[in-house]
Amino acid sequence: PPLHKQRHQFVVDFVKRNKPKKVVDLGCGECTLLKMLKFHHEIELLVGVDVNGAKVKKRMHGLAPISTDYLEPSYDQLCVELYQGSVTQKDARFKGFDLVTSIELIEHLTPADVELFSEVVFGYMTPKMVIISTPNSEFNIFMPGVSCYRHSDHKFEWTRAEFRSWAMKVCLDYGYEVEFTGVGKAPQGQQEAVGFCTQIGVFYQLWGRDCCKTLLVNDAEDLFPYTLLYRVNY
Ligand code: SAM
Repeated sequence: PPLHKQRHQFVVDFVKRNKPKKVVDLGCGECTLLKMLKFHHEIELLVGVDVNGAKVKKRMHGLAPISTDYLEPSYDQLCVELYQGSVTQKDARFKGFDLVTSIELIEHLTPADVELFSEVVFGYMTPKMVIISTPNSEFNIFMPGVSCYRHSDHKFEWTRAEFRSWAMKVCLDYGYEVEFTGVGKAPQGQQEAVGFCTQIGVFYQLWGRDCCKTLLVNDAEDLFPYTLLYRVNY
């Protein structure tokens, strides 16, 4: 299957194993991943946010229940919400989730915004689990026609070491541990040397994280900067 499908399937398989009840997809785009996740009955709250509201609106109605969904009693619980907003801003409605996914989003942020993103996700939203995917620049030698970045809007593409170093710092700062994996294998015999085409970090919140710099909410701040675009209850 194409790489974008493999990335989404990775999340679906993770959801099947870990059964999160509340899931947020950051940079949800046209809601492709959310549409796959709505079939997982353990999920009670499924939320998406993207800075590009028009992109979300284009396909969001595909998240509406279809008539057969009402025949499925296990759908009773599901609520879907979509927002326009930037992952560099804190919104109080995004705290307390079991799983946050960020698929091919981080490389679209400037370095300063990556810092804000780390703070917002790991320091403010403080979910139990986080899945982050991003291109592995070491793999680009296998991608004909890619001279610099894979996409013109990418602000950077990390090597495995660069991704690891960002991830380890986040873990230290905010009390998480991380496992590295990926999707898209290199040709035979070269997997070790270059790694996966898409690198993935799976983060788990540690216990006793009071020691870490979880951010306190400033009352004067706007608590709800994101705009609700769509909400549906099954
Ligand atoms: N996650 C989707 C997927 O796997 O197909 C879309 C990936 S697309 C390459 C990156 C998405 O991130 C775009 O939809 C873009 O609008 C969104 N994005 C970029 N900067 C953002 C920001 N600061 N806050 C929220 N979303 C952002």
